[in-house]
Amino acid sequence: MRKYEFWFVVGSQFLYGPEVLQTVEARAKEMAAEMSGALPYPLVYKVTAKTNKEIADVVKEANHDDACAGIITWCHTFSPSKMWINGLAALQKPYCHFATQYNKEIPNDEIDMDFMNLNQAAHGDREHGFIAARLRMPRKVIAGYWKDEKVRERIGSWMKTAVGVAVSRSMKVMRFGDNMREVAVTEGDKVEVQTKLGWQVNTWAVGDLVKEMNAVTEDEIDALVAEYQASYDVATDNAAAIRYQAREEIAIKKMMDAEGCRAFANTFQDLYGMEQLPGLASQHLMAQGYGYGGEGDWKVSAMTAIMKAMGEGGNGASGFMEDYTYHLVEGQEYSLGAHMLEVCPSLAAGKPRIETHHLGIGMNEKDPARLVFEGKAGPAIVVSLIDMGGRLRLVCQDIEAVKPIMPMPNLPVARVMWRAMPDLLTGVECWITAGGAHHTVLSYDVTAGQMKDWANMMGIEFVHISKDTTVEGLEKELFWNDIAWKLKAI
Ligand code: MN
Repeated sequence: MRKYEFWFVVGSQFLYGPEVLQTVEARAKEMAAEMSGALPYPLVYKVTAKTNKEIADVVKEANHDDACAGIITWCHTFSPSKMWINGLAALQKPYCHFATQYNKEIPNDEIDMDFMNLNQAAHGDREHGFIAARLRMPRKVIAGYWKDEKVRERIGSWMKTAVGVAVSRSMKVMRFGDNMREVAVTEGDKVEVQTKLGWQVNTWAVGDLVKEMNAVTEDEIDALVAEYQASYDVATDNAAAIRYQAREEIAIKKMMDAEGCRAFANTFQDLYGMEQLPGLASQHLMAQGYGYGGEGDWKVSAMTAIMKAMGEGGNGASGFMEDYTYHLVEGQEYSLGAHMLEVCPSLAAGKPRIETHHLGIGMNEKDPARLVFEGKAGPAIVVSLIDMGGRLRLVCQDIEAVKPIMPMPNLPVARVMWRAMPDLLTGVECWITAGGAHHTVLSYDVTAGQMKDWANMMGIEFVHISKDTTVEGLEKELFWNDIAWKLKAI
């Protein structure tokens, strides 16, 4: 995984004289260094900008430096915004306007006009905010004292979202086979997606994967099986099935790494030359941060990889999920989510078990090994990216995951149980009204606020179904969105 950093760019002007500018620079350096210790990615002080050229130059540098995942600006003093226009208009990286000030308190005895001129963030930030509003730039505004823990958490959360932008713009998805049967929601305009989100989605032959699988050595398989045994409980005597999954995983990983792909999709309809649908193999690849989508769903696969990268440590608790069935008993309304095999163990409440079971659907000659577990309890989100024709819509719903209310001993797959917001039935009505897919990314780690910011940075529609959403309100929002996005496309 790439090492990312963020740049701290401070606005000022020559009006104040060299002494004030030196103070601004020294303080900005101190703030960047101190905040870096509390943020998930380093904040690097770059410049106290006083001219159009200095701003344009730092933006050019940021655009071309792959390590720079975004810029954070601040105005200690007043920085006339006409000199920011050329730079901001050229900016291709995520942008956060940090409205803070060096001092926390107004010093009652000390304050005079010199103090006012040096410490005028309240003044400078408004000029700075105007120009981004005037340029209609996607940005995040965060206001608060720079030493405040909650403020730092918000900056950290934005940084992780900006990393999701960087990961999206370099996303390559390896696709084995086409979509499954006649499913609509897994389709989409790959040219539009590459233009908007940067994703390169291309196809590889299943036959090439089988060739790669045949080249995997017994030593390589021994090593990976040892890793499985260290991470999971083995609850099957079918060692051959586990070894076959290891062979699949090694081959898929080699092909993805050789191509720089972070995500892959396959379909159980097209497994020519393979004995088992990759189950454990796909699950363990997801655990390492790769994205996966079943039934040719390249959109959910890429979103899984992006949301994992946005999580804790660059590989958070997010995974490919599918809505399966409901429990509709009054007062106990829940969704049961699972997949045929491929649920990411980062969602597990306990240690997953490796099991083998017959899989009737698809072309499996042998019983595939898979990880079986229960999902964690707690607040989470489910996210679905759909192609509306002419634009992309990201649907995000808040959910409350629970410990599954029954053991379901004959269910041979990992399972997560949750209640959608605002309540299961209204939540289902809202989700269906918005057109959200049956495939989602479920995340305990990434928040709806982060997904809103991500969609904003990527320039796509965002629909949030929360505890406050009503069907009527949502219908109106979707109606207005439709008109707004058509105007935007002109
Ligand atoms: Mn599916």
